Amino acid sequence: MLQNMEAFLYESLEQNKVRCRLCHHRCVIKDNRRGICGVRENKGGSLQTQVFGKLIARNIDPIEKKPLYHFLPGTLSYSIATVGCNFKCRFCQNADIAQMPADRRGMILGDPATPEEVVEAAQRSSCRSISYTYTEPTVFFEFAYETAKRASAAGIRNVFVTNGYMTPEAVEMIQPYLDAANVDLKAFDERYYKDLCGAKLEPVKNTLRLMRSLGIFLEVTTLLVPGLNDSRQELEQLAEFLVNDLGPETPWHISRFHPTYRLTDRPPTPVDTLLTARQIGLKAGLRYVYTGNVPGQDSENTFCYRCGKMLVERQGFQIRGYKIESGCCRYCHAPIDGVGL
Ligand code: SF4
Repeated sequence: MLQNMEAFLYESLEQNKVRCRLCHHRCVIKDNRRGICGVRENKGGSLQTQVFGKLIARNIDPIEKKPLYHFLPGTLSYSIATVGCNFKCRFCQNADIAQMPADRRGMILGDPATPEEVVEAAQRSSCRSISYTYTEPTVFFEFAYETAKRASAAGIRNVFVTNGYMTPEAVEMIQPYLDAANVDLKAFDERYYKDLCGAKLEPVKNTLRLMRSLGIFLEVTTLLVPGLNDSRQELEQLAEFLVNDLGPETPWHISRFHPTYRLTDRPPTPVDTLLTARQIGLKAGLRYVYTGNVPGQDSENTFCYRCGKMLVERQGFQIRGYKIESGCCRYCHAPIDGVGL
């Protein structure tokens, strides 16, 4: 089994305390204690990551599953995770692994792996990218960084599926190797972030702006929870932020909630609510707005923002029809936004 390693991005304080600078919680951690994520521990004044090379999940997924619809469409992405998360979302879809340290008295499980092995496995399985996903890549940042660096050198792209709570220092550190990210913008309301996720909204908006300015390709996902973040006013504000601060070319995925983990008193999101949110996004000026977790909807396809013709037909995570040629609409030749289209 690999040993724990010293964490990146922390500073020493008095009395053997440390301050972690990896995410916006900026935890001050006493000796022999862990931060909020449950996977970074102060050992005698040295902050150690407990999850380096301990993979709880590794799968070969379509890139569409992340979801990324405008980044190397139709390709495979080697997808990995360790346990742990810096959020406490009551609706977490992967709580068994993301909240394992918090819910099971500090338990950390995972199979040993090295960055080299992950890159080789991605190459062997013809994956064009490696995705750091399922839990929160921020909290296994050191392993993601070492893997991404090697993957980049081997011509493999790197993708974070993230809650966007990294500090600017962390974003800038990973940026040379990070090609794309799907960032959750879970709501447009500070109270929602505080009460349901144990976090703050403003830093997520800042991460999105920073990633955009650094040239990291972005798609954004919002899980709509009935009665909590689906008001017209909130969705209009969120869509306006996407258009004005990130650009109308930013794909927005509006995803269906299913009762789970600690949020079981709400029904699944009505399909009509998702479709209304999609209309709000399109009206605000976004070019590509998708519904997620509802198979069989027209709104999982890509349409040309100029002529309206269907360009990418999807069924679940599979592509059934593709009418983009050299990055442009086959019909009206409008350039379609994305990477490797
Ligand atoms: S990464 Fe973990 S230890 Fe570091 S600031 Fe965030 S929650 Fe705290």
